Amino acid sequence: MTQAIDKLQTNLSTQPAFTALRCRECGETYELGAKHVCEDVCFGPLEVIYDYDLIRQRVSRASIEAGPKSIWRYKDFLPVANDPIDVGTGMTPLLKANRLARRLGLKSLYIKNDAVNMPTLSFKDRVVSIALTRARELGFTTVSCASTGNLANSTAAIAAHAGLDCCVFIPSDLEAGKVLGTLIYAPTVMAVKGNYDQVNRLCSEVANTHGWGFVNINLRPYYSEGSKTLGYEVAEQLGWKLPDHIVAPLASGSLFTKIYKGFQEFVKTGLVEDKAVRFSGAQAEGCSPISQAFKEGRDFVSPVKPNTIAKSIAIGNPADGIYALDIARKTNGNIEDVTDAEIVDGIKLLAETEGIFTETAGGTTIAVLKKLVEAGKIDPDETTVAYITGNGLKTQEAVQGYIGEPLTIEPKLDSFERALERARTLERLDWQQVLV
Ligand SMILES: *Cc1c(COP(=O)(O)O)cnc(C)c1O
Ligand SMILES: [Zn+2]
Repeated sequence: MTQAIDKLQTNLSTQPAFTALRCRECGETYELGAKHVCEDVCFGPLEVIYDYDLIRQRVSRASIEAGPKSIWRYKDFLPVANDPIDVGTGMTPLLKANRLARRLGLKSLYIKNDAVNMPTLSFKDRVVSIALTRARELGFTTVSCASTGNLANSTAAIAAHAGLDCCVFIPSDLEAGKVLGTLIYAPTVMAVKGNYDQVNRLCSEVANTHGWGFVNINLRPYYSEGSKTLGYEVAEQLGWKLPDHIVAPLASGSLFTKIYKGFQEFVKTGLVEDKAVRFSGAQAEGCSPISQAFKEGRDFVSPVKPNTIAKSIAIGNPADGIYALDIARKTNGNIEDVTDAEIVDGIKLLAETEGIFTETAGGTTIAVLKKLVEAGKIDPDETTVAYITGNGLKTQEAVQGYIGEPLTIEPKLDSFERALERARTLERLDWQQVLV
């Protein structure tokens, strides 16, 4: 009898807090399967819902701080039931960016640096760790994705670690580093002659016919929850406080909306005090459907054909665009876009001031941050967090020709001295140009 009660209590204390899938549009609920649209009623997107009373009873600041140094310290808030696939994803640095702040005229700026996330150097490792853990729980043996590059890297790497079969789909014109960074894990790679939106459409058909777990299609409700950890970590790293303003890149808009959900959940479960956080989104001008809708005051997003160097965020028909719009508006934030030239400058600015080499998506974020400060849309006194989501070593093409060159010298002291003198002269010339 006592044994039975003990068992019941253990079950209660380990029973996961995620309870159902629910349609964001009509509220219809579904069982926790591999399903992402409200097929019975309105075809809206499905989202994971939780028993927050249960989570509140279970977690505290101390219990989280005592957890693993990865996203799995927040396991109670995530849609997985069993042992997670833990490849060390998450708990990336939150850096106080004093030099960049001074350059931009801000007083309190932080960089959340997912350029060094594990294992594949982008924020996608967060969403894939969750999606593949859930895929395994749901019995999938083959996993897949439609990717703009980073997602393929991450899916292939974590599938390799977990011993899952993997087949990924990418547009055929991706950067060399993104393609190599997938092939090395030896998945099947389909390079589709088309843009991301065409890749995604093809994958929806494959998902219906092959019974594979597509991390960002039939597993999307679980996958997208992984981005909440970008909110949790920033709150914890700021000393259990929310920032005043965040700036993050927008592709499908999912990441942006989930940082918001993450902050809200921490407030709901009593981990942080409530605060009005402003949400600002960043797009490349060559693929700016959400930014255009924002500026034109529309509450719908019109698809565009992408044409930008920021390929990782080049989604012309963003699935979560309208929700991102809504969050930017109701939090008194903004959505802004920048040119490819400004993106390159953004990459260089972050590298030169903070020692962080980000990819084109991060360059977009920094360039938009700068533009918003210059337009008076970020207050210098606001504690602002810019999310850097990917690593520059993967998109070297973008800065090729816009950076210096090594000085080639003989292995002799006088050759070095002459080269150094030349370098200093060039530097002085540079300065004179700045001064005139
Ligand atoms: C995928 C991606 C994003 C944006 O993701 P969404 O959730 O689709 O908006 C941002 N930055 C990088 C580097 C990415 O790879
Ligand atoms: Zn619905």
